[in-house]
Amino acid sequence: MKFCSLGSGSSGNCYLLSDAKETIIIDCGFNASEFERRLKRFEINPSSLTAILLTHEHDDHSKSIFSVAHKLKIPIFLTHGTFKMCHKKITKSLQLDLRFIKCLEVFRIGNISVTPIPVPHDAREPVQFKFQSNGKTFAIITDLGFGNKILLNEIHHLDGLILESNHDDDLLKQSRYPKSLKERISGMYGHLSNQESAKILNNIDTKRLSWLGASHLSKENNTAELVTKSWQKVLKNNLIDINIIDQDNGVNWVSL
Ligand SMILES: [Zn+2]
Ligand SMILES: [Zn+2]
Repeated sequence: MKFCSLGSGSSGNCYLLSDAKETIIIDCGFNASEFERRLKRFEINPSSLTAILLTHEHDDHSKSIFSVAHKLKIPIFLTHGTFKMCHKKITKSLQLDLRFIKCLEVFRIGNISVTPIPVPHDAREPVQFKFQSNGKTFAIITDLGFGNKILLNEIHHLDGLILESNHDDDLLKQSRYPKSLKERISGMYGHLSNQESAKILNNIDTKRLSWLGASHLSKENNTAELVTKSWQKVLKNNLIDINIIDQDNGVNWVSL
């Protein structure tokens, strides 16, 4: 199993996960031409893409996802709540193969088992995904206010993890953002701070992790150094590198 990210942050998120047979898109928060440009940069042939997963309706995850699914003629997996909130994007001209998924009900795409994990976030029915294939387990966990017991249980033993680390609490407090936005971001249904993401790492067994990445960093209210510093404090597996997935460059293919 291998994965990459075409970029992550509030201007657009997109990941790809691949095994011998399938290449799955997870979210597409770029517009269609930017998505194609980034695929080209990563030397990915669009015809090799076999399925799409959507985590939730926010534009930085869903922007061109339905037109991409239509163009590539591949199925799109999403919760019913997310579907309901995306009705404006699902225009009549699009021919879509929609597959409805339920929280914690494992489904398969080829040989890849996918677990949709419910997360506390201000969307209708948001999920994040855990993938299992060939004895390896990998998860992408972003867009959540805190790590609840369901999440900690699902991501306890992983080989690879991408985890949101959106903002530093102090930088957010001092920022020029309006009070309501500050409260939204730092709330229980907002985004993980460096302190909250570190708490998650502290509460899971990271010994088996061979790859760890931080994503969805705020350009205004965070830095790679602050993420690294707060994560290093809690990592028991202190030999592991902390990779930062940024908005412009994402991260190139990583094999587990
Ligand atoms: Zn987001
Ligand atoms: Zn979101």
